[in-house]
Amino acid sequence: VRETAGLGTGGARLTVLAGPTAVGKGTVAADIRERFEDVWISVSATTRKARPGEIHGVHYLFVSDEEFDRMIADGELLEWAVVHKAARYGTPKQPVIDKLAEGRPALLEIDLQGARQVRETMPEAQFVFLAPPSWDELVRRLVFRGTETAEERERRLETAVLELAAEKEFDVTIVNASVREAADQLVKLIRSPLPSGKS
Ligand code: 5GP
Repeated sequence: VRETAGLGTGGARLTVLAGPTAVGKGTVAADIRERFEDVWISVSATTRKARPGEIHGVHYLFVSDEEFDRMIADGELLEWAVVHKAARYGTPKQPVIDKLAEGRPALLEIDLQGARQVRETMPEAQFVFLAPPSWDELVRRLVFRGTETAEERERRLETAVLELAAEKEFDVTIVNASVREAADQLVKLIRSPLPSGKS
């Protein structure tokens, strides 16, 4: 096991980006991947099927349920969660530790459940909440996005309320009014040095 390096070695820091469903985290991360090569973005393992255009090892590591079970059992994941009651997603731990040890700033784009787990195991990371320009708009989108049944709308509304409330758990909020501006703000945070005493 090589995992003893610990966070903060090399002076680079870990940044966790989370936020409500449909707020545009993936789009902001993709913009950073394209424009800022010094930032390393973690590639998650997932049990969901690849969508057209998605590449194994670039967008995700697409793994079987058995392989995901093995990764959990072998302690290879920094965090993992079932997202949208559909598939499992998790962050491979070793690459994060290696990149930080190399002094490379690292970004995780994960859901709220995953962010809470990282908060427990790596409290020295910085936690950034991506917020929609208007909460009303997000709730509208979550509740009315092509769903018919009252029950389904109710469930989405409950999810939205919980997700909105999560903002106060985070260190910083970035409002996603423009993808480019949100990405620029996030990269500034990602590149900022570890505060002393927080390593
Ligand atoms: P999608 O299936 O649309 O690519 O992603 C669905 C959701 O999974 C997004 O909200 C994304 O933040 C979350 N997600 C992606 N990778 C991970 C991960 O490694 N861990 C956790 N907890 N969530 C993830």
